[in-house]
Amino acid sequence: MRADVVVVGAGMFGSAAAKYLARAGADVLVIGPESPGRDAAAPLAAYGAHSDEARIVRRLGWDRLWGTLDARSADRLPALEAESGIDFFTECGALALMGKGVRDRTREMLRLCDAADVAVEEVSEAALRREFPDLGLPPVVGGTDGLLERRSAGYLNPRRMVRAQLALAARAGARLVRGAVTAVREAGPSGAWILHAESDGTEFTVEAEKVLVASGALVNRTGALPAGRELDVQAYTEPNLLLEVDEGQLERLRSLPTVVVVDPEDAGNDNLSAYLLPPVRYPDGTWYLRIGRGMQPLVRELRTAAESLSWCSAQTVTREQALFLRNMTRTLVPSLEPVSVRSACCVVDKTPTRSPYIGALDGDEGLSVVVGGNGHGARGSDEIGRLAATVVLGEAWDFPLPPELFAPRREPRTTGPGSGRPDYLTPPFGLC
Ligand SMILES: Cc1cc2nc3c(=O)[nH]c(=O)nc-3n(C[C@H](O)[C@H](O)[C@H](O)COP(=O)(O)OP(=O)(O)OC[C@H]3O[C@@H](n4cnc5c(N)ncnc54)[C@H](O)[C@@H]3O)c2cc1C
Repeated sequence: MRADVVVVGAGMFGSAAAKYLARAGADVLVIGPESPGRDAAAPLAAYGAHSDEARIVRRLGWDRLWGTLDARSADRLPALEAESGIDFFTECGALALMGKGVRDRTREMLRLCDAADVAVEEVSEAALRREFPDLGLPPVVGGTDGLLERRSAGYLNPRRMVRAQLALAARAGARLVRGAVTAVREAGPSGAWILHAESDGTEFTVEAEKVLVASGALVNRTGALPAGRELDVQAYTEPNLLLEVDEGQLERLRSLPTVVVVDPEDAGNDNLSAYLLPPVRYPDGTWYLRIGRGMQPLVRELRTAAESLSWCSAQTVTREQALFLRNMTRTLVPSLEPVSVRSACCVVDKTPTRSPYIGALDGDEGLSVVVGGNGHGARGSDEIGRLAATVVLGEAWDFPLPPELFAPRREPRTTGPGSGRPDYLTPPFGLC
């Protein structure tokens, strides 16, 4: 098999990039496994961060880079739905509860929104109580500033959005193989690449002129990169609780917006940073309200492939994580009486730049990467994929901030103090 460009990973970034590459006329092959079923044992490469039913969408960004990525993508979601014929976006609004300790940051975020024509309302705690009587306000030290977006904000269904992007990529001529890449190496002086992969237990190789690695948070662990060329990306547990909502509570709670709490104060496990999704219908027909947390110390770094696989396949959050999430649910939705509660375990990646990596690796034009969603890459994924396609095609960079801000970094030789890596477990954790 051969292709001009092989995209490794059919997730949020890979599917968007494949669409843009194919539309530009490239001969594209996407290799990526199906998402594992909830109970099935699966290899590590099959676990992606998009295997769920809801990811928060907003245009309000923690900084200009993310705000621009997110706004550009969010503005395109309705067109993407229309073009693909696949619905995946629910415009229920998005609320950020910003601790008053980050007032300067909040002001700057609002200034950026104003400049970009993104409508964000400042809503007092009293007004929030009136408009959303089911929403409890977290006891963040000093109180919170409520920032509410009503338009182009809410949540997207990441599984369905990936399906939509892949359908559009296929319509433009891209091919998709359900399988995993196990090794990538240079073919020799030709400058081409050889990818070893397997699909349904059958091994095969592909020759490609160019490779775009879009294999998500566990990029260093699944054979998606050539040996010795690991990226400076750290993977963390992302614990969630899914709280089943019955018909009686559904109508009331469905009017909630998505909620993010930014608590800049507490550096320990009592930090109240968290995110909440209103009830969403899961494939088994059940409605679940979902809650997850920021990067408190009880979020754990996944240091090895074995640790990562055990976390992803067990789907059981720790006792401490569950306790925090239950308490936080009682705080944010005090009236909720869940019919059942189950946990979901996923993985997020962090880059030291806090930006996604979009670019050639070590200046090698044949090998590019697009990874580093930093826990909130879904909403900006269409623009991130578009930029990755631009890089692979060697086209002019057309983003208002320079490509250097997205430059991939290789894994540092040293870790720990003095390695230059930020401590991701120190608040504020940004807007997840
Ligand atoms: C619980 C949770 C909540 C989140 N909430 C939000 C949110 O509210 N809003 C938001 O914007 N973002 C959110 N995110 C982040 C968002 O989902 C990710 O940033 C986004 O999915 C990143 O896209 P990606 O393409 O890098 O990775 P993925 O979507 O994970 O895709 C990577 C793909 O590569 C595949 N792969 C891996 N190795 C190989 C290999 N060797 N060969 C072939 N394929 C391979 C994987 O199977 C996967 O399908 C959340 C993430 C999690 C886990």
